[in-house]
Amino acid sequence: MRIKFLGTAAAEGVPAVFCNCPTCVKARQKGGKNIRTRSQILIDDDTLFDFPMDTYMHMLVHGFDLSAVKRVLISHSHMDHCYPQELCMRGAPFAKNMTEPRIAVYCNATVREMILADTGREIRPEIAATVDIKTLHPYDDLMSDDMRIIALPARHTKGEECLVYYVERGGAGALFLNDTGRLDGEVYARLKAMGAKVHFAALDCTYGNGSGTSGRHMGLVDVVEQLKLIDGAGLLAQDPIVYATHFSHNNDFDFDEMSEKAAAYGILVAYDGCTADVNA
Ligand SMILES: [Zn+2]
Ligand SMILES: [Zn+2]
Ligand SMILES: [Zn+2]
Repeated sequence: MRIKFLGTAAAEGVPAVFCNCPTCVKARQKGGKNIRTRSQILIDDDTLFDFPMDTYMHMLVHGFDLSAVKRVLISHSHMDHCYPQELCMRGAPFAKNMTEPRIAVYCNATVREMILADTGREIRPEIAATVDIKTLHPYDDLMSDDMRIIALPARHTKGEECLVYYVERGGAGALFLNDTGRLDGEVYARLKAMGAKVHFAALDCTYGNGSGTSGRHMGLVDVVEQLKLIDGAGLLAQDPIVYATHFSHNNDFDFDEMSEKAAAYGILVAYDGCTADVNA
């Protein structure tokens, strides 16, 4: 699998949309890897993890064919992870010569309702007919063509069944763990029992070098603890690739400073555009 981070920020972005705090001022000045758009990951040019409002910009900046994406895995309904209105543009007369005529959207029941409500006013019936919304629950385990998808229960927000995902292709397994607070070892034990193996992991690091006291996000301290649990469950492959992602402007550190702190634990800091080749 080739995994590409298209966006690596929390909801407000870094710099944040309306913010002039020292971190955002510094990010604007330094630019480069300090500029973070809303979280999204592209897998092998045919699968997206999350669908934020920055999806269109990600297509422009990273130059991939958005019409070739066959499936989207959505974590939850927050706007930095799900901007369904864009799906209205997925068909004639707004889109022509698309590579893939259909798209599958995997999500929880709340996101399903949100997609139907938010696209309802504008989507053409013939376009709506090409969007297959598939409702998932924690521990659902399915194949989508040659990709295995396992939904896992996130610890994030009340009122919906927030999901994180394990994805496997060609024997290589990847864990996408945002947005979530610390997960119990039980989650990883169940994933292990399902035959998963983790060659790649991207974990929520909204709190930067700190800890996710809110319980709905994590910091580096929590990422390190989660890695121990993942390893303890026997899930980690040899020499796994581990990234921290989903950073907030409330984290004081810039990319270089954060990378130095994470490197002490063998963890990489994701940035917009960074790519990992994940092999079994
Ligand atoms: Zn988020
Ligand atoms: Zn700020
Ligand atoms: Zn969220």
